[in-house]
Amino acid sequence: MNDEATAAVERQPPEAAFALLSNDLRVAMLRALGEAADPLAFSELRERVGEADSGKFNYHLGKLTGNFVTQGDDGYELSLAGRRVYGAILSGQYTADASVDPFEFEGPCPFCGHETLVAEYADERARLYCPDCEVWRNEFSFPPASLDQFERAALPAAFDRWMLATVVKVLQGFCANCGGRVDGTLVPTESDLPMDLAARFECRRCGDELRSSPTLPVLFDPTAVAFFEAHGVDVFADPSWRYFGPDDEFAVSTADGDEPTATVRVALGDDELTATVGPDVRVTDVRVE
Ligand SMILES: [Zn+2]
Ligand SMILES: [Zn+2]
Repeated sequence: MNDEATAAVERQPPEAAFALLSNDLRVAMLRALGEAADPLAFSELRERVGEADSGKFNYHLGKLTGNFVTQGDDGYELSLAGRRVYGAILSGQYTADASVDPFEFEGPCPFCGHETLVAEYADERARLYCPDCEVWRNEFSFPPASLDQFERAALPAAFDRWMLATVVKVLQGFCANCGGRVDGTLVPTESDLPMDLAARFECRRCGDELRSSPTLPVLFDPTAVAFFEAHGVDVFADPSWRYFGPDDEFAVSTADGDEPTATVRVALGDDELTATVGPDVRVTDVRVE
């Protein structure tokens, strides 16, 4: 628990909360409430889960109420925790086992210009990368049960949009995994990427981490969004591999003193965007010339 937290948050031990779910009838109740558009009355919910024994039904519903289910004037509905469990059931995080063999899709690679890029899915992680230069490479978790909602040819764009949604949430300071607070820092890179600092976003609570080029937080600065838009790129709608091409100039220079900073420079046509990324990954001095 954070000492600075201003609101009191009561939590019950997770062991107790998750133990409540180790029962088929209770999971069926969560599913029925999740599928319902409106709160359900006692008898309506009992009918939907098909439980003839009213006493047994009442006992198990009582266990969920106050935790995963709330009871109001209109009947029973899922609490926020209940909706998260229902969402996890739908996303297949606990049940699905899926993979997609590597396949090529149309590039080009924004760094080396290679005509095709590669997408693959295994171990619940999506990977998008250039098979030639290895500089353009993205890897992130993706819910397995969302795979079959897309034709294979549509998967690279779907993976990319998922990554964008995760990135936007993290840039706003929230963990995509648990909703905890996220802090950004510039850290030295361990790999042989053509830049020696990376932006690291780490959740204070669950430890989930996102690492990227220092360019990433710059892309969503309003000045940068307008800069790209003026050059025909919508950073919220176009695939990230189309943000700039191999003929555009793109550079990250770093100063790794006591306070590491990165300067990002992108030249599209006759215009040049520069921005400074501070040690806490805050973006300042965004300029277009
Ligand atoms: Zn490449
Ligand atoms: Zn977290």
